[in-house]
Amino acid sequence: MTDPQPSQKPRAAVIGGGPAGLMAADILSGAGIAVTLYERMPSLGRKFLIAGRGGLNLTHSEVMERFLPRYGEAAEHLREAIAAFSPDDLRAFSEALGQPTFIGSSGRVFPKDMKSSPLLRAWLRRLDANGVAFRVRNRWTGWNEAGALSFVGPDGRDVTDSPDVTILALGGASWPKLGSDGGWADILRKAAIEISPLRPANCGFAVPWSDIFRQRFAGQPLKRIALSHGGETVRGESVIAHYGIEGGAVYTLSRALREAIEKSGEATLVIDLRPDMTQKQLAAPLGQPRGKQSLSTFLRKAANLAPPAIGLLQEAAAGKLSAMPAYEMAGLIKAIPLKLTGTAPNDRAISTAGGIAFREIDEHFMLRKKPGVFAAGEMLDWEAPTGGYLLQACFATGAAAGRGAVGWLAEKAKL
Ligand SMILES: Cc1cc2nc3c(=O)[nH]c(=O)nc-3n(C[C@H](O)[C@H](O)[C@H](O)COP(=O)(O)OP(=O)(O)OC[C@H]3O[C@@H](n4cnc5c(N)ncnc54)[C@H](O)[C@@H]3O)c2cc1C
Repeated sequence: MTDPQPSQKPRAAVIGGGPAGLMAADILSGAGIAVTLYERMPSLGRKFLIAGRGGLNLTHSEVMERFLPRYGEAAEHLREAIAAFSPDDLRAFSEALGQPTFIGSSGRVFPKDMKSSPLLRAWLRRLDANGVAFRVRNRWTGWNEAGALSFVGPDGRDVTDSPDVTILALGGASWPKLGSDGGWADILRKAAIEISPLRPANCGFAVPWSDIFRQRFAGQPLKRIALSHGGETVRGESVIAHYGIEGGAVYTLSRALREAIEKSGEATLVIDLRPDMTQKQLAAPLGQPRGKQSLSTFLRKAANLAPPAIGLLQEAAAGKLSAMPAYEMAGLIKAIPLKLTGTAPNDRAISTAGGIAFREIDEHFMLRKKPGVFAAGEMLDWEAPTGGYLLQACFATGAAAGRGAVGWLAEKAKL
């Protein structure tokens, strides 16, 4: 059988050039469908590239029984897509594009050279070879009265398209300057599609720091600490921000912290500055005479604390530290209660929670109220901690939506 002429091929529009949209375009173009990929920014995959800046954590190597629960109540909706495009499949995909992966000591999976750019470049070459047409600087604005997709194209021109099938992969609302600003939520709400509000996830939190503490320590890390909230403790690192606190260990607890703030307006995060020592072990050197040393020098030597940790301790003790008995001081070092009064805004979050409600899509990721329109990636209503779970779900749902669209076109062709 010869290939159909380009004009006879079914046509797909993919909107959004992040991992989910690119994956859908890959599946569709691989199945011989003519794909046009629309992206509002001047180039593709900007958030994916930023994700690689500190080491691209593609996925996680843990067993499925531990992996899936990371998605909370959305796990059941993602189970099939992740089974069909698993962490191993994602590793094989990366390797096929010339980027073999390795498992880090934490079980997280990274490409060997840690970056996104070589992977993205090789991927775009493959899509180009498969005939995907890229239309950057095209911002989707919804459907017009005739039901065609509408875009504001380069130079403000109106652009319309009436493909046989559409994939929406417009991302969440974090880091809007990279392109995903969640503006699609209002478009879909107008089409009577239920969208749960987009809220910051894997985000920092506001802390009412004193001016002096903020000026001295904003931007500095708190290393080798443990954070606790609601019975969960994580070890790691955090960063003092001008507005509060952010960084890996905070992100891990961010869902529970955000929910506590949503419920009661504030939450308490407990910081252990020396998780490797007991209160009693710490109290012994702290009980030694300080002599002529300043309190900071004494704390640095006796408790091995860095300046931001000492600053935090002083902030928490509100001027009472120098008169504090050693055992009490050791207790504070082990459990500084930090009052969080709000979440950091979406533009500083790694990802967003909320999105298209799962009841709005069928098992092939097609919008029930918009036959022939599929959705994938972070714009769906799931959230997960950092650790590779975000990208894994974006790739897997992009692949699932792509397969769903291929299947839907095949069914339509039979009619
Ligand atoms: C700093 C940072 C680090 C991260 N690190 C990791 C990590 O190591 N591991 C991990 O798993 N995850 C990480 N993430 C999260 C991960 O990058 C995202 O979850 C993922 O990129 C989402 O993929 P997506 O395809 O759904 O959406 P996006 O990547 O956001 O892509 C959506 C695309 O749609 C385009 N778009 C939006 N609106 C329109 C419109 N109206 N018209 C046309 N185009 C539009 C956007 O410009 C964008 O290019 C990180 C995120 C950030 C911000």
